[in-house]
Amino acid sequence: MKKIKLQKNNEKETLPNSDGFFGEYGGQFVPPQLKKALEEVTAAYEIAKKDPDFQKEYQDLLANYVGRPSSLFFAKNLTEKLGGAKIYLKREDLNHTGAHKINHCLGEALLAKRMGKKKLLAETGAGQHGVALATAAALMGLECEIHMGAIDVAKQHPNVLRMQLLGAVVVTVESGGRCLKDAVDSAFGAYLNDYENTFFGIGSVVGPHPYPMMVRDFQSVVGKEAREQIMLKENRLPDYLVACVGGGSNAMGLFHAFLNDEQVQMIGVEPAGKSFKPGDHAATLTLGKPGTLHGMFTYLLQDEKGEPLPVHSIASGLDYPGVGPQHSYLKDQERVQYVTANDKEALEAFLMLSKVEGIIPALESSHAIAAVIKMAPTLSKDKVIIINLSGRGDKDVDYVGELLGIG
Ligand SMILES: *Cc1c(COP(=O)(O)O)cnc(C)c1O
Repeated sequence: MKKIKLQKNNEKETLPNSDGFFGEYGGQFVPPQLKKALEEVTAAYEIAKKDPDFQKEYQDLLANYVGRPSSLFFAKNLTEKLGGAKIYLKREDLNHTGAHKINHCLGEALLAKRMGKKKLLAETGAGQHGVALATAAALMGLECEIHMGAIDVAKQHPNVLRMQLLGAVVVTVESGGRCLKDAVDSAFGAYLNDYENTFFGIGSVVGPHPYPMMVRDFQSVVGKEAREQIMLKENRLPDYLVACVGGGSNAMGLFHAFLNDEQVQMIGVEPAGKSFKPGDHAATLTLGKPGTLHGMFTYLLQDEKGEPLPVHSIASGLDYPGVGPQHSYLKDQERVQYVTANDKEALEAFLMLSKVEGIIPALESSHAIAAVIKMAPTLSKDKVIIINLSGRGDKDVDYVGELLGIG
C-alpha cells in the first residue's frame, strides 16, 4: 500500500483572535453586564481546553454516552444510482438523541459544572437544541431552563414533552412574534438576571465570543474522526466535504480538521426554502449582508434598517437569519463555497436516501444530500465526497407524511 503523509492541521486557521474575531466577523456585541459573564466563560474554557482531566471526561462521555466514533458509511447504493463520485456518510444520526448537537451540549454542560453553575439556560426553536441540552443537564445533575416561543411550543409538542421528561423547565415566550428570535431575547434577559448561577448553552457556532470558537471545538471531533476513517478506507483525503448550514455547527465540526488541506474542497448548503423572495428562505451567506445580531458581527438576512428578516425552511433547524462568524470569514476567504438547496430538493433527497440506503435523514441533513445529488453525477468515479449526515429524520416523518398526503 502506498504510504501517504498525514498532513498536520496547523494553528493558522484556528482563529479567532483574542477579541473573538475571525477576520472582521464575530466579536462580543453585548451590553456591559453580559461582557463580564462572557469573560468568565472565556477564561474557564481556555483553562478547561488545556486540562487533560476535562478532555478525558469529555472524551469518555463521547465514547460511552454518545456512542462515538460515529461510523463513516460508504453509501454504495446512492453512489451507484448517481453514477459519479464515491459518497460517504458521516453518521451523526446514530448519536444518542439522534444528531450532532449532543456533542457540544455535553461540552457546555461539563464546563458549566466545572464553573460551579447550577443551571443550564438556552433558547430553542424547533426544540432539538433544547432536548440535547436537557439531556446533558439530566446526565450531570444540573437544572435546565429552556425558552421557547409560544408558536413553537404548540408546533413542536413532542419535543416539549421530551424536555419535560428530562427534567427541564420550558418557559413559553408570549412576546413579539412568539418564535425563535423572541425566545433568544427572553433567554438573554433571564441570563442577565442570574448569570452567577447560570450557564448559557448556545446551540450552534453563533452568538458572542467565545461561543463560535467553543462550540466549533466541541464539534470538531466529527472532522477528526472522518479524517482518520477516510484515510483507513481510501488511503487518501476526500475531494469534497458537504454539510448543511443553519447556524453552522455541524458544518464547522466536519470542516475544521481539513481547513489546511488545500486539496479538500468544502461546500456549505443553505436552505433556499420556497423561493429567493425575502421571508421564503434562510440563505444567509448567499443573499445576506454583514450586520450585528445576537452578539456577533456576521452575514445576516436583514431589511434596510438592519432588522432581521423573517426566514423559512422545510427544515426548522435551518431557519435562522444569521450564521456563525467563522463561516462569514471562510466565505470571504473563498475557502468554503456556499450553495443552496430548496424545500423541494431537500424533500426529494430525504425520500431518495430513505429508499436507496434505508437511512431516513433529518430534513436539515437532506439539504446536504440534495447538493450531492446535483454534484456527484458530474464528477468522475475516483472522486470522494463526505456528507455530514447531521441527524436522523424520525422527528420529521409525521410532517413529511402530511406533505405527501400519506399520513
Ligand atoms: C440543528 C440542526 C442543524 C442545524 O444546525 P447547525 O448549527 O447549522 O449544524 C442541522 N442538522 C440537524 C440534524 C440539526 O438538528
